[in-house]
Amino acid sequence: MICIPVTDKTHKDALQTIERGAQEADAVELRMDLIPDGDLPGLIDAARRASKRVKIIVTCRRPEEALLPEPIDLPFRKEGLSLAAKIDLLKQAVELGADFVDIELACGDRAIRQILSFIRRRKSTARVIVSWHDVSQAPSLAKLKTIFHACMKVGADIVKIVPYARKMEDNLKVLSLIDYAIARDQKIIAMCMGELGQISRIMAPVWGSYLGFAVLRGGKKSAPGQMTARTMKEFQHLLQRNRRSVQPWLLPPGASNFVLLGHPVRHSLSPLMHNKALEAMQIEGHYSAFCVNDLAAAIEGIRGMNIRGASVTIPFKTTVMEYLDEIDEDAAALGAVNTIVNDRGRLAGYNTDWLGLITAVQDRMNIAGKTIAIIGAGGTARAAVYGIKKQGGNPIIINRTLDKARVLATLFDCPFYPLSAIGKIRAHVLINTTSVGMYPQIHQSPVPAPVLVNFELVMDVIYNPLMTKLLRDAETRGVKTIPGLEMFVRQGAGQLKLWTGKEAPLALMKKTVRERLKNIENRDE
Ligand code: NAP
Repeated sequence: MICIPVTDKTHKDALQTIERGAQEADAVELRMDLIPDGDLPGLIDAARRASKRVKIIVTCRRPEEALLPEPIDLPFRKEGLSLAAKIDLLKQAVELGADFVDIELACGDRAIRQILSFIRRRKSTARVIVSWHDVSQAPSLAKLKTIFHACMKVGADIVKIVPYARKMEDNLKVLSLIDYAIARDQKIIAMCMGELGQISRIMAPVWGSYLGFAVLRGGKKSAPGQMTARTMKEFQHLLQRNRRSVQPWLLPPGASNFVLLGHPVRHSLSPLMHNKALEAMQIEGHYSAFCVNDLAAAIEGIRGMNIRGASVTIPFKTTVMEYLDEIDEDAAALGAVNTIVNDRGRLAGYNTDWLGLITAVQDRMNIAGKTIAIIGAGGTARAAVYGIKKQGGNPIIINRTLDKARVLATLFDCPFYPLSAIGKIRAHVLINTTSVGMYPQIHQSPVPAPVLVNFELVMDVIYNPLMTKLLRDAETRGVKTIPGLEMFVRQGAGQLKLWTGKEAPLALMKKTVRERLKNIENRDE
């Protein structure tokens, strides 16, 4: 999680920071000690209105523990609020629906317990961050561990420890402390302040720190060493990508792991999409891609390591079936599994590809009674034919190799034609399930452009590039289109539903993958 501290000098400016912060980050921290005219109900309300998913942290930092990047002269900051007033403020935050309140360990057991019991009495879901900051140095690791235990002992839901880095080695202390906390199943926020502490700000969230702090572009820092949310995200993305296979070791006990089994998997966008979705769904876990050499051993690994779920991709969608304990009806009919659910050692196989494809079409047009031409006769074509039949549509198979079209058509009892006959076909929808037009062959299309006027809707299952030549040709002729991205995110959302029982954030997943693909396309131009 990336958190934006709100430290503006006026309530009005704070509202603007909240608005932007809620869009760019996962959490906003309302630093009530730095917003003299800050009206807490108004600020919390603004955050909730800006984003339903953004987490709200409220704190009123003790002046002794606040190190600002620039001198600041605020009338009520000099002395700080009285402890009683501060407790009242944090209680008010709980009542207003803040997700977290942060109180310093130095405020004492009594004050912290007062907040904790207030939360319990109100049956609130707010969580307490017990924090400790040293604005001038980083004590020894042994001392940091003592502080950590003191925070834990007083009942912290999340321990926050932030010393000031005087030398690079100080960063190692906080990273070790994160490992130490995770081993004790205790959530922790840890990093170093100061310019020399920047490396820990980058590393800590990847290492397992519950959140990291960043600023908005052009925004005010609440502590020296903070970088912009965008820079931090870019660093995290790079680190996470390279630590993909290591990351699961760092997950706290109880977290759910998910894997992608395939060969190759290097360019897969599933880890990016699924990890973004897991984060938004607040599921503690991680999705990693594995390039598999020995499928039987990989499946045993899923059981042995209690991995909750797996995606299966080329070339294992069919061969994986023999290793599973049960196969869902749709997957059995398709002869392909793209999803595994591990229920305490019992592995069940499902197929969400057909669902991803069909729901993408169904969203635009009721399939029942419609004629749908499918180019291709491979695995994806089979998923399409199966789904169309299931929805009461009439599939037509068109393939380069007629024999393969015949086999599929016989199985599903539908007409088939050679690809050379495409000009004679008229249908409501045309779906390309071949790889023609996929990167790097982006200037190819499986059909001549003029024939596209024979269809009301054209779909491509290819999602790299986002707009294939086929789709561009169709749009030029005023024919509506569905990009392959729609199928990709929907099959992913189907997997998440099977693994977690929850609806996945489809729009966010789409945006995440679309942005990555756009970046790839821009880079290759
Ligand atoms: P597959 O089983 O290998 O089938 C490929 C089909 O494409 C075959 O029917 C083949 O025809 C045809 N084909 C290949 N090259 C051709 C060419 N130059 N001209 C005409 N036809 C050609 O592959 P698949 O697993 O179905 O995957 C197909 C595509 O779907 C891939 O691009 C894949 O990335 C994409 N896909 C997308 C999603 C998504 O979520 N969007 C999900 C799954 C798959 P022949 O029979 O004549 O060889």
